[in-house]
Amino acid sequence: MAKPTVASIEKRMAQFRRIGQTAFLAKYANGRAPHHFYVEKDGVDYPMKALWAASHRPRIMPARFQPKHAISGFDALGYDIANRSTISVERNAEILDSQAKEGERYQAEVVRIRRSAKIVARAKEHYGPICQACEFDFEDFYGEHGRDYIECHHVDPLSGREGKGDVTTIKDLAMLCSNCHRMVHRTKPCLTVDELKELIAA
Ligand SMILES: [Zn+2]
Repeated sequence: MAKPTVASIEKRMAQFRRIGQTAFLAKYANGRAPHHFYVEKDGVDYPMKALWAASHRPRIMPARFQPKHAISGFDALGYDIANRSTISVERNAEILDSQAKEGERYQAEVVRIRRSAKIVARAKEHYGPICQACEFDFEDFYGEHGRDYIECHHVDPLSGREGKGDVTTIKDLAMLCSNCHRMVHRTKPCLTVDELKELIAA
């Protein structure tokens, strides 16, 4: 029987975070929650005896050893033990629910659509930087910081142009605030500005 190592413990910790405390205890400790001892790491509390038992190769049952054996084992590997009598399953669920791994980099192939800055600038001058659906005015709301800000919506989306460039005129563009712009694109095909205005009016 192989004793727990940092690698085997980390693997079980990952499993705990994946399946949750209830399933973990059911699998490794006959469903019994700890009375006192938890291993603390990165804001998550792991049931100490169940984790120690599960990290053996092959795993053993928690009834086979005393807490002090697990405590000295975890301690030797540099883990922090917390002695709590009342830590709850809910607290762990809360922590796990409120975190997600993000920020990994990945590569993706993208096709970019050529947009014309010139026509967008013309349209802005022509229509003014006011949302045509809800009349939001960024400068009014944000002061100097919001001056001249508006988003330019292609009434007939560029993504529908199937690879060939067509001529855009200012009639093909609408000025929308960021909220309205998102809202028209929430469906495919997107809403017309008039449809969104009807929604706002309703
Ligand atoms: Zn708007």
